[in-house]
Amino acid sequence: MSINIKWLEYDVIVVGSGGAGSQAAYAAAEQGAKVILVSKDPLGSSDTKISEGLATVRESGSEDDSEEVLSENVKLAGGDLPLKNITDTFSKYSKEAYDNYRMHGLRPAINKEKGGPQSLPLPMGGHNRNRSVGHENHGVAFGHANWDSVIKEKNIDYIEDAWFLDVIVEDKQKNEEAKKIHGGIVYDASNGVLLAIKAPAVIIAAGGLSTIFFPKTDTMRGNTGDSYAIAMRAGADLVDMEQLQFLPFCLASPPSYEGLLAGEPSTASYLGVLRDKNGKVILDGVHLRTRAACSEAIMRAVADGRGSPNGGAYLDMTANKKLPKSGPYFMRYLETSLPTAYINARQALGKEAAKVEKVWEVRPGAHYMMGGVRVNNEGASVGGTGEGSVKNGINGFYAAGQAMGGLFGANRLGSTSLTELAVFGTRSGKSAAKYALNIKFKVNKELFIPYITEYKAIFEQKGGVSATSLKNILQKESWSKIGPVRLLEGLNKIDALIADLEIKLKNVSIPNYTIWNQPFLDYMECKNMLYSAKAISLAARKRDGSIGGHVRLDGKNISIFSQPYSTVVRKESNTTFLVDKLHRKRTPIKELVRYKILEFKRLMEAKILLMLPKSIQDQKLEKRYKAIMSVNGKAPELMPGGDEAAIGDSNRA
Ligand SMILES: Cc1cc2nc3c(=O)[nH]c(=O)nc-3n(C[C@H](O)[C@H](O)[C@H](O)COP(=O)(O)OP(=O)(O)OC[C@H]3O[C@@H](n4cnc5c(N)ncnc54)[C@H](O)[C@@H]3O)c2cc1C
Repeated sequence: MSINIKWLEYDVIVVGSGGAGSQAAYAAAEQGAKVILVSKDPLGSSDTKISEGLATVRESGSEDDSEEVLSENVKLAGGDLPLKNITDTFSKYSKEAYDNYRMHGLRPAINKEKGGPQSLPLPMGGHNRNRSVGHENHGVAFGHANWDSVIKEKNIDYIEDAWFLDVIVEDKQKNEEAKKIHGGIVYDASNGVLLAIKAPAVIIAAGGLSTIFFPKTDTMRGNTGDSYAIAMRAGADLVDMEQLQFLPFCLASPPSYEGLLAGEPSTASYLGVLRDKNGKVILDGVHLRTRAACSEAIMRAVADGRGSPNGGAYLDMTANKKLPKSGPYFMRYLETSLPTAYINARQALGKEAAKVEKVWEVRPGAHYMMGGVRVNNEGASVGGTGEGSVKNGINGFYAAGQAMGGLFGANRLGSTSLTELAVFGTRSGKSAAKYALNIKFKVNKELFIPYITEYKAIFEQKGGVSATSLKNILQKESWSKIGPVRLLEGLNKIDALIADLEIKLKNVSIPNYTIWNQPFLDYMECKNMLYSAKAISLAARKRDGSIGGHVRLDGKNISIFSQPYSTVVRKESNTTFLVDKLHRKRTPIKELVRYKILEFKRLMEAKILLMLPKSIQDQKLEKRYKAIMSVNGKAPELMPGGDEAAIGDSNRA
């Protein structure tokens, strides 16, 4: 039975109902556009909903935080690869966008003295100010706020269990400025139809690609790189695709906990260090380091044969715990700062580890793609040299959330993603709606025909291979070839593997039933994973030194003082892709030096603390914990009988 086609017409299609998609749909609908939101997961269920729920709220903690300070922090922690006008936009609109979330029901803890959201006690790794705010019910609180944004807006129709397959793009015509969007094609799995949706604007907010590294990831399984693959097939530019964020402190065992989040650099608190299998310190001052720096230290030790049994290293926080006066405060800090991560660690590593009487085995896990669709500060696709222009991009094509690149460069600071979703989700939604409502062309139905013919044929494809087995092969090889550390030899091998799997994909057998055709879904996800893996490999080849999330064991470290560049990947023909370098404007040397001196000063202070006699360390830290953990003027309360009692209780939960 051949699959039926259903034609629909909208102003804006939004792909994905996580934070970015929901906020984009809401903003577009508010402008008066007729919006359809398609999502393969139920509305609001996404990485956003399973997150720890920490959002960056400028000026929530440190008095001397500001728009400039936050923007510079994001840019320079990202190795100076992010575009200044994008980090400036993020910083400028971060408060407003966060307040918009609160309008939809998000409730932060409130600092009654200051009258705003209460930030965590210590800055998350690499942040130079306190500005990460937690929420009761964590990511679920964001999921609900997203649900609220969509459900109450009458201009939004939404469909779940719907896989967006491709955008329909028209090549640049004579006398026209750019390529342009005519709509998209969607597999509506629960109704068993292909939707041909006519629309002048599409916003891709379909999340990341970490499933390529399963089981070494803490993300949802739907992160199959659809955002990037769809953009690549459409001919859009992708930037910095070598820059993947591996969260350093994920669990390495037991298998049912593999990949789950156990902590953040700031989890280590003042005295935590990373050790190799011989007990040697491989990184100190851990709480001040970026996620990228911690992951790199672990994976270099592993590559050197000094890793832990499950391919990681040891997070040693015992020095914090051992101090008699400040130890109980540390335990309270550990339990409450990232509660989900702490619970994961306690369940996986056991009671002794939860009491920090022994070290934690940790291994990086794929967490976030910092590269993505090349866009301007309104989320619109751009191409060409320098910062790019919309006339060299695809008109009507937008990206937001993890799908977009250009904001985080070589490292993303913790808690910035949930804020970014609100900023660029909203901006892309507004911008797409304005474009769609003002554009003077009629969507051309004829352009859909080749796509419909192609997908109809796939529904009846004969063959002897299953796409799931191909996915598994890619997942098995990705860690060592395009994972946290890379070698040219590995990149060559993964390219050959991808080419082989692409051939085998043509021999995947797909039955012709139309409702919930799982083999078809596996086929599409495998195809998208292969496209995304190819983009990572191409970009990783182009950047032959190490910076941030990209570590080339066979290359030099790239200094932040050298001329920064981004990598760009784009389609050359139906089967070939180009990779190039995009020169980025360097932050003036004077500012770089000032930033680096302050970073160095903070690290030196941490190192000096490590060298002080234990009694002085203890006194100083007790004072600090009381100061940083007091809420609304009240010092933190410790459980009677010390924090041991708290752990005993929670272990029974
Ligand atoms: C365990 C964990 C903890 C985290 N904690 C934090 C935190 O505390 N603070 C922070 O800032 N960040 C955190 N992050 C990161 C953050 O949650 C994500 O980066 C962010 O939620 C991504 O949002 P998004 O809207 O881009 O994508 P998602 O929220 O992942 O949404 C993607 C959507 O796209 C849909 N989709 C995908 N492909 C298709 C397709 N082909 N067709 C239709 N729909 C599709 C999915 O179904 C989903 O609805 C955490 C991440 C994880 C995994």
